[in-house]
Amino acid sequence: MRRHVDIRYRPDGFEAKCLMCAEWHPLTLDYWYPKHGMVRCKACLRAYRAAWERGKRHDEAWAEGVRECRRVVYRANRTERLAKVQAWRANNRERIAAYMRGYRARRRAA
Ligand SMILES: [Zn+2]
Repeated sequence: MRRHVDIRYRPDGFEAKCLMCAEWHPLTLDYWYPKHGMVRCKACLRAYRAAWERGKRHDEAWAEGVRECRRVVYRANRTERLAKVQAWRANNRERIAAYMRGYRARRRAA
C-alpha cells in the first residue's frame, strides 16, 4: 500500500486525496490529522478506528473503514448529485429521446 497521498493545487489552496475514500480534501486540520499520518482523511480515520475497535483487523478493518467512509460521502453528496442528474436530464431531453429511438430500432433489428 502507498504511504502518501496525491496533492493538487486549487485557487483556494492545496488539496490532498484520501487513499481510503479517494475524495479531495483541503489540506487543513479540519480534514487531516497529521499526527496520525497523512493517509486517511479524518472521516476515514474515524471509520477505520471504529472498525478496529469492533475487533476487525487489518484488511477487514480497512475494507469496513472504506465502506463507512463511502456511506458518509454518499450521504453528504446525495442531494446535490441527484439534483445534477435531474438537471442534466431536463437539459438533454432531445438527446435522450434520440438515443432511445436508436436503441429501440437496434433492438427491433436484432
Ligand atoms: Zn477519506
